[in-house]
Amino acid sequence: MIDTAIAAKFAAKETPFYYYDMAVLNKTLEAAHVASHKRGFHVHYALKANFNDVLLKAIKQIGFGADCVSGNEVKKAIECGFAPQHITFAGVGKSDKEINYALQQNIFAFNVESIQELEVINELASKQGVKANVALRINPNVDAHTHHYITTGLDENKFGIPNADLEKCAAVLKKCEFIELVGLHFHVGSQITDMTVFKSLCVKVNEWKNWFEERGTQIRVLNVGGGLGIDYKNPDGNPIPDFEAYFDIFDRFLERKPHQEVHFELGRALVAQCGSLVSRVLYVKNGVKKNFLVLDAGMTELMRPALYQAYHKMENISDGTAAEALNYDVVGPICESSDCFGKEVPLPISKRGDLIAIRSAGAYGEVMASRYNLREEIRFVYSDQL
Ligand SMILES: *Cc1c(COP(=O)(O)O)cnc(C)c1O
Repeated sequence: MIDTAIAAKFAAKETPFYYYDMAVLNKTLEAAHVASHKRGFHVHYALKANFNDVLLKAIKQIGFGADCVSGNEVKKAIECGFAPQHITFAGVGKSDKEINYALQQNIFAFNVESIQELEVINELASKQGVKANVALRINPNVDAHTHHYITTGLDENKFGIPNADLEKCAAVLKKCEFIELVGLHFHVGSQITDMTVFKSLCVKVNEWKNWFEERGTQIRVLNVGGGLGIDYKNPDGNPIPDFEAYFDIFDRFLERKPHQEVHFELGRALVAQCGSLVSRVLYVKNGVKKNFLVLDAGMTELMRPALYQAYHKMENISDGTAAEALNYDVVGPICESSDCFGKEVPLPISKRGDLIAIRSAGAYGEVMASRYNLREEIRFVYSDQL
């Protein structure tokens, strides 16, 4: 529960806003840094989870690189001070403009997802007279046991080079004079809490690394992606993911030679728990079958529940909150039935004006906000500026 002293400071503020607890962020970054650094692992932060300047500054400070999925994210990372040699560029649909920009910046690597993309990057690099560093994204066909919208590592997904194409891919690579293969890239999905998924991934990475080496292709970097999940049910009990257990799996099960680097692309695990969306109850509708709380925040501020039925813990953080509880459908003001944060949510009896905190909203929250319904721009409150 967000502390009542902090909640009191919210009272006069205009809602809705994202609240970032910088102490939680810094502790999380520190834990991830310690657990990765002692194993010699490299972490690139996946900007798409949250590209808020204040958060990016802290992430850059701790020494992580940046994993980007658009030309503008590459630009943003550079503007925030990430060194180009610590920036990767991934995505199934990179435009020529984006590729050209990233080539000019001489980034660490493109994570390439098809043979056609490889050929396009080779051609654009030749025109610029530069060499493009490339990691091949291989589809490991590992089931992430997570929501199907956030599973990416199965044959049926649009991501990665299909296994059947890799033989041809290896041949094409040999002909691409303007491409330097730096490594292999894998990413199985998001919000993964079952560590055996990562163990299965290690097995696949070992297999594919051997496959390339048997064909005389040296692999310097093994990029195993991101996807480590967080505890949405219990953000106060588990504010920091178990980075030790996570990195330990890769340390034990990835086969590697001393010169081979292991790279990670963590997004959610680093930033989700530090953020909450704080809103006010506008109206209480006690119906025949349902009790509704209508908030001043909606899917335009936090889309995850509407987009993939995501669960977020909700709390009434107003002073003098009733002891008695009731089940509410907590909804937003947007003209869509999917604009609902949760059904039958047990909350203390709530009234107009009460503050509701929607927890664990630091990842894939403000970055997915939209101006649909001509909603206002997102507002922010940071714990160190309260
Ligand atoms: C989204 C994404 C990530 C980050 O995923 P999280 O679940 O937020 O850790 C990493 N790598 C790639 C290729 C991605 O698409």
